[in-house]
Amino acid sequence: MASSPPRNRALRASAGDGIDPMAVVARARDLGVMGWVRPTGEIHAEGAPGALEALMAFVGEGVPTERARVEGHEQFAIRGVSAGVFVVQEHQATAHHYDLRLEVDGVMRSWAVPKGPSLDPAVKRLAVEVEDHSLGHNDFEGTLGDGGVIVWDRGTYEQGGRVAWPEALERGHAVFVLHGEKLRGGFALQRTREGAKPQWLLIKRRDDEARAGGDIVAEQPESVVSGRTLAELLG
Ligand code: MN
Repeated sequence: MASSPPRNRALRASAGDGIDPMAVVARARDLGVMGWVRPTGEIHAEGAPGALEALMAFVGEGVPTERARVEGHEQFAIRGVSAGVFVVQEHQATAHHYDLRLEVDGVMRSWAVPKGPSLDPAVKRLAVEVEDHSLGHNDFEGTLGDGGVIVWDRGTYEQGGRVAWPEALERGHAVFVLHGEKLRGGFALQRTREGAKPQWLLIKRRDDEARAGGDIVAEQPESVVSGRTLAELLG
């Protein structure tokens, strides 16, 4: 009987911030190792035992490693670096909603979130995918028809998860970390219905930035650009 290939293993390592993350990525990809590296030197690597050994030999002598759970990564990514900008615009149109926009490949992928984002991991907010917007629209604040728009939050974001972007979005599960003025920490978008107007759920991940209870859109209604609320703008 032919022997089966060696089972994948996973390890975590702390190589320190002297490493070159891009070089680690290139070596990992050569070796077929999946996982991620942070500029701080933290590494999660999973793959064949020999490939993990070769990667750690490349990273350096004496770097402490520990066994970890195989998580099923499909890429070797850099974590902890910005993937672009995000913005949340509060928009009074026919219906009141918040537009979450993430920069992906030069456009702002967009979701209309009727109740707005939440920092409570127990709260799942409906997010209806809408047409891409240009980056030039991100700063827009003002009246629009009978309604108006304020910039409710903005900042940069990191892509996360086990699958590379934009494929993660195409497959309907995308994990990301927001660095905004109001929204911070990990979030997930999970597609629940495909079709002409795909429906997703926007969910805060459990981390140090999560907050049970409360409703940040009600607690902090003002624009991060002008300090005005949408009601004041429309007043
Ligand atoms: Mn809108």
